[in-house]
Amino acid sequence: EEDAALLSGEYGDEDFDGPVKLDPVLAIIGRPNVGKSTLVNRILGRREAVVEDTPGVTRDRVMYSANWNGRNFTLVDTGGWEHDARGIHARVAEQAEMAVELADAVLFVVDSAVGATATDEGVMKMLRRSKKPVIMVANKVDDFAQEADSATLWGLGFGEPYPVSALHGRGVADLLDHVMDVLPEFSTIEGLERSGGPRRIALIGRPNVGKSSLLNKLAGTERVVVDNTAGTTRDPVDEFIELGGRTWRFVDTAGIRRRQHMAQGADYYASLRTQAALEKAEVAVVLLAVDEVLSEQDVRILQLAIESGRALVLAFNKWDLLDDERRRYLEREIEQDLAHVEWAPRVNISAKTGWHKDRLVPALDLALENWDKRIATGRLNAFLGELVAAHPHPVRGGKQPRILFGTQASSRPPKFVLFTTGFLDPGYRRFITRRLRETFGFEGTPIEVSMRVRE
Ligand code: GDP
Ligand code: GDP
Repeated sequence: EEDAALLSGEYGDEDFDGPVKLDPVLAIIGRPNVGKSTLVNRILGRREAVVEDTPGVTRDRVMYSANWNGRNFTLVDTGGWEHDARGIHARVAEQAEMAVELADAVLFVVDSAVGATATDEGVMKMLRRSKKPVIMVANKVDDFAQEADSATLWGLGFGEPYPVSALHGRGVADLLDHVMDVLPEFSTIEGLERSGGPRRIALIGRPNVGKSSLLNKLAGTERVVVDNTAGTTRDPVDEFIELGGRTWRFVDTAGIRRRQHMAQGADYYASLRTQAALEKAEVAVVLLAVDEVLSEQDVRILQLAIESGRALVLAFNKWDLLDDERRRYLEREIEQDLAHVEWAPRVNISAKTGWHKDRLVPALDLALENWDKRIATGRLNAFLGELVAAHPHPVRGGKQPRILFGTQASSRPPKFVLFTTGFLDPGYRRFITRRLRETFGFEGTPIEVSMRVRE
C-alpha cells in the first residue's frame, strides 16, 4: 500500500505545492553556567551541543532539529558565549532579544540554588513585553530535597517553575510535555513560512567579504522597501529589492547593515544569524572574496548553507582586485577547493564597481528552478532501469542488491528514495547521485538519495 501511494505521487508531497510550514522554534536562554547546554543535550538525547563554554571555541551549530513524542521542533541553543567586560547583564539581554526575535516559545533557565538574580529580572521584563510564551526552568534540582529551592521562583510571574535536573534527566519529560502544549504546531514567526510572493534570499558570508557593499550596489536607486518582519526590538529587517525586473526578498539584512561590534561571542551571533537567515530563505548566496580565499570561516559558512538544504549560489567578490596572473592562479585554486560544491553556480563580481552584478539573477533563477524541480516517477524509473542495466551493482558475497524502483519523495530540495533488495555500496549510491545530476541537471541545489531495503 506504501508502493501504491508512492506511485500515485501521494508520498511526501506536502512540501511541493502550496505554502510550507516550518517546525516551531524553542529558544533556551539564561545566564552562563545555569545548565543550558546540558539541557540542550538532554533534550536532543545526544552529546552534540558543547557543554563547556571554552573561550575562543567557535560554535557553528546553534539550531538543532529536536523531537518529542513524535513532534518536531527546532531548538535554539544560546549557551555559546562567555561573558566579557561588558558584563553578563548586557549579554543575557542580547541573547534574550535574539530568542524573542526567533522563537515561538522560550525556556528561561535559572539555577535553582542561586535563584533569580537582578539580571534575570531585567530579562524577564523584556520577555513579558514580548508576549512570547515563557517557561521557567529551575535547573539543578537533582533530587526531591532540592525541589523546595525552586519554589522561590514562583513569584516571577511566569507561573510554576519546572524543577529539572538537566544533568540526570529528572523532570525533563514533564517539562517537554508542557513545552509541546505551549508550542504552536508550526512556526508562527512571520517570514518563516514559505509561500508565494518574492523569492527569499539569504546573503551570507564572513565579515568584510562585501555583503553590505553588494546590498547597496544591488539596491542602488531601485525601490527598496524595508519590512520590519517581527516588529521586535532587534528589528530583523528584510529588504525588497528589484533585480531583473522582479522583486526579491533579502532576508534579515539588518544583521548585515548593522555592524557587529561584539568582540567575544561575535562568532556565535554570526553563526546564529547565518542559520536563522538560511532557515527563512529559499536560496543562499554565499559571498566569498578574492582577498582571502576560503578561510576557515568561509568553509564553515558554506557548510551551513549546504546542510540547510537551500538552493545555493556562490559569489566571488572583489574581482576588481585581480590582475591576469593572479586570476588564473585563483581560478585553479577555487576549482580545487570547491570541488565538493561544483554543482553550485558561481559568479565572479565586484560589489565595488558593480561588475557582473547582473549575473546574479540568472544564477538565482537556475538554482531555484532546480531546487523546485520534480522528476516524474515514470521518467525516474526509466532512467534507473537504463542505468542499472548498463552498470549493475557489484556482486557482494554472492549477492547483488537490486533497485526495485525509485521515486522523488519531495522537492525543495529534491529528495529521492530508492527501494532496493539490499544495501547499496556508498560508492554506488554516489554514482547514482552523480548520474541523476548529469541527467536531470540539478545545478544549484543539493539533492539527497536514500534507500529503503526490502528484505
Ligand atoms: P550553560 O553555560 O548555561 O550552557 O551551562 P552548562 O550546561 O555548561 O552547565 C554548567 C555546569 O553546570 C556544568 O558543570 C554542568 O555539568 C552543571 N550542570 C548542568 N545541569 C546540571 C544539573 O542538573 N545538576 C547539576 N548538579 N549540575 C548541572
Ligand atoms: P561586509 O562586512 O561583508 O558587509 O563587508 P563590507 O561591504 O562592509 O565590505 C568590507 C570592505 O571590503 C569594505 O572596505 C569595502 O569597501 C570592501 N569591498 C567590498 N566589495 C568590494 C569589491 O568588490 N572590491 C573591492 N576592491 N573592495 C570591496
